[in-house]
This record gives sequence, C-alpha cells and structure tokens, in this order.
Amino acid sequence: MTLPMVRLKAHKEKDIIRGHPWIFSGAIQAPLPQISRGGLVDVYAMDNSFLGRGYYNAETDIAIRILTMNQDEPIDLDFFKTRIRRAKRLRESLEQQQTNAYRLIHSEGDLLPGFIADTYADYLSVQFSTAGADALQGLFIEALVAELHPKGIFARNDIFGRTREGLEREFPHDLWGETPDFVDIQEHGATIRVDIKKGQKTGFFLDQRDKRKLIGQLAKGKSVLNMFSYSGGFGVMAALNQAQKITSVDQSGPAIALAKDIMALNGFDPQQSQFIVGDAFTEMERMVAGGEKFDIVILDPPAFAKSQKDKPQALRAYKKLNKLGLELTAEKGLLLTCSCSGTISLEEFRETVIDASVKANKTPLRIFQEMEHGIDHPVILAMPESRYLKALFCAV
Ligand code: SAH
Repeated sequence: MTLPMVRLKAHKEKDIIRGHPWIFSGAIQAPLPQISRGGLVDVYAMDNSFLGRGYYNAETDIAIRILTMNQDEPIDLDFFKTRIRRAKRLRESLEQQQTNAYRLIHSEGDLLPGFIADTYADYLSVQFSTAGADALQGLFIEALVAELHPKGIFARNDIFGRTREGLEREFPHDLWGETPDFVDIQEHGATIRVDIKKGQKTGFFLDQRDKRKLIGQLAKGKSVLNMFSYSGGFGVMAALNQAQKITSVDQSGPAIALAKDIMALNGFDPQQSQFIVGDAFTEMERMVAGGEKFDIVILDPPAFAKSQKDKPQALRAYKKLNKLGLELTAEKGLLLTCSCSGTISLEEFRETVIDASVKANKTPLRIFQEMEHGIDHPVILAMPESRYLKALFCAV
C-alpha cells in the first residue's frame, strides 16, 4: 500500500535521524497531500531520503509522530504484535519479583507514540492519547489479545490530552472482554487493590514502583509520613518492612478509603495507621505548628506545572512544599521528594529543593539517590522532554 508522502524542509531531519519521533507542523514542506486526521504518511527529507513512517494530525503542533524508521515495515497487525512482544521482554524481570502490574506500552518509549497499556494481573487498562493512535485502536487491541490473552481490556480515554488532538474525552468503558471494578495485583510482595474504572491515571501509579521498593528497604522501625498517598502504596511497602508508624494524607476520600482496604488486605489493622483526608499544605502547616517530626517524609504531589505558563507558580509551590517537608523530617531522617511535571527539568527541580533547604535551615542538603522512571517506563534518549518523573532521596 502506498501512503501519502510528506517532505520536510531543509535541515529539519536532524532530530528524526537521532531517534526523536516528533515532527512539528513548521518543519513540513507545502503543499501537503490530502491526509485524513490520524492517517498514515511516509516522511522524506529534502534530499528524498526516507526518514520514517508515522501518523499525521493537522490539528496539533506535533503534526507527525513516527512509528517506524524502517521503510520495509508496514503498520499492520504484525507490526503491533512485534512491538508488544518486544515491550513484554523488557518487563520480564518484574514478573520474577512478585510483580504482575506494570506499564506494558509506554507510548514513544515503546516506539508506539500515543499508546499506553498498563497490565494489572489478567487485565489491561489502555489509553489512546493521539488521533493517530485512536485510528489504529482496532489493530492494537487485536494484537494485545493475540499476544497476551487478557481477560479484559478497559479503555481510560478520559484524559485531557485527547482534546488537544481534536478527540473526545470518552467515558471509561470495556473494549474487550469484561473487567471488574477492582483488580488485586502484586507488587514486590504487597497486594494492591486497583480501582481500574474510577481510579486516578489507569488505576495505580506504576511509575513509583521502584521508589516504593527502596522506601520499604529503608523503613524498618521508622515513622513514615506519606503525603499525597493516593491508595497508600508507599505506606504499605513500609508496613510490610516493619515501619513503626505510618501517616497517609490525601485530599481524595475514595483514595484514602482504598488505602485503608489495602492495609487490611496485607494483614495490617488500618486502625494502627493514621489516615487523613485533607489538603497537603494545610495538614503539613498544622503538623509543623504542632512540632511533629517523622523519620521518613515522602512528597509525591500531582504535576504542579501542566504547561510552560504554569512553571513559575509551580516552582513556588514545590519550594513551599519541600520547605514544609524538610521541617517535618526528624534529624538524621530521610526525605523522598518527587516531581512529575514534564515541563520542569531535573536541574530545575534540584535547584528548587536546594532553595527549600535554605528556607528550612537544613543546609547543606545531601542526596543519596536520584531516580526517574522504572524499567517499565523507558524513554527515548534523544527525547529528554519525555522524562517527566524526578525523585530525590535526601539525607536530612
Ligand atoms: N504516591 C502515590 C501517588 C500520588 S499521586 C502512589 O505511590 O501511588 C498524587 C496524589 O495527590 C493523588 O492521589 C491526589 O488525590 C493527591 N492530591 C492532589 N492535590 C492534593 C492536595 N492539595 N493535598 C493532598 N492531596 C492531594
């Protein structure tokens, strides 16, 4: 099948050749052929050399996302099956660590821009964030079924990003088979109940798995403050490793209710832990005023900067939060501070945490570990803007 051809302007091929899969509308030579929204195209450089095959959307700045740089690779069922098998191989080590929940397809990082698939035991929770990915849904689902035989595939296309692509935000629904409201998964030996249909993201924050594991290893005998706890993942890892006391805070009532259930599922009496539904800033100010201290403080807020224009305000919020977190950390304690704002770089985040340490009178602040995404969230090296998650383990 011949696809519509798109030619780039002079010198616009450099990033593509380095492996960056995005082509901005300004890089494309006019006139453009007729292409339906999300339709496949072949991309050539000015000198007529083939660059890649991807999908096109005139409604966004990122006009083309490359699916393959191999001219002989058609975008068909086999293409998706091969990509899925490759992604599965990368995650094999997780299954050997009592873990049956992980991101199987991480969009560009698994060479499938716009596609997300999270594995929760026998079920998959999927998202199609671009028009091109949406148009290829059928093939993707068919390939997932053929390769993985899931009991159900559930669509969480309720994400805001779809509107930028001219797509509807959909009510969550079954795409294949039937998925129950809650699925119990294993993560490093903890049982976690996942609210697939109504939970945040696709149900759980899989990207914090390796950070949760390390907190578990450090938690024996310690008091732990788990801010922005969601369903309490960090807390349950700490409890399984004999933490002395765990306090979890989240503004979401359903998240805290689920956190209590998960504590109980793992054999702990939820009455023995403290669970607070409330605003993190208000609660931390109250704790600081009351002179409270914790051996381990975890700060895992939502993305404060959703776009470039939110950045100054977001950096101020991170600084304030980290100052409060440092004030609540006991002497010789640990602070794990995270940011999942894609628009804030690791360097900017480090600077903000240093500023917070000055304000909190905790200089010089030392770190002993910096983490990003785990093995199930690979990123293309030539695409630094996709490294959204930063986690600093600080010795206070
Ligand atoms: N640490 C969690 C993930 C946290 S996601 C894990 O490992 O699973 C961020 C959480 O912050 C969400 O659960 C959200 O409900 C909560 N949140 C957002 N704004 C908040 C605020 N101002 N105060 C308290 N919690 C907040």
